[in-house]
Amino acid sequence: MRALYPGSFDPLTLGHLDLIERGSRLFDGLVVAVLQNPGKTPAFSLERRLEQIQEATSHLAGVEVASFDGLTVHFARHCGAGVILRGLRALSDFEFELQIAHTNKSLAPDLETLFLATAVHHSFLSSSVVKEVARFGGDVNHMVPPGVAVDLARLFNRSSPQA
Ligand code: ADP
Repeated sequence: MRALYPGSFDPLTLGHLDLIERGSRLFDGLVVAVLQNPGKTPAFSLERRLEQIQEATSHLAGVEVASFDGLTVHFARHCGAGVILRGLRALSDFEFELQIAHTNKSLAPDLETLFLATAVHHSFLSSSVVKEVARFGGDVNHMVPPGVAVDLARLFNRSSPQA
């Protein structure tokens, strides 16, 4: 069974990476797919986000990195994925995630959404929190992969972190 892990990944955090590592052990193949959302202006270009994920997952067999626009269910079919993987950090994620899962089920009854509970020590992590900390010069080395920490320092004109 192949799975699709879709998201904005703007940027990739250690919370995302934990989910990718666990997902790659559960499935024969895992496609990590960056959504090109025309309604959002990302901090990092699509190309950079793809590179960040590729770099951080190069040690994982069976993980592919891709980008897509349009409906997740269409892209899941295109990839041959039977499962959409998502993460749950807190109760606040639940309502939104359940709505998307139900919508996707109504569009593609053969696809299942599987939720993995976040690792406790990553449960406070989001791409927004990471950008906020980096913007004001805080240490993000325990929140993101080394390459992303360098990118964040560059983005906010801070000196490069000791990764
Ligand atoms: P989206 O814009 O689709 O929510 P994100 O990049 O924010 O994209 O998140 C993609 C998926 O990763 C979501 O299912 C989200 O709940 C999950 N996720 C985000 N942060 C974490 C984390 N710290 N631990 C586990 N899962 C996470």
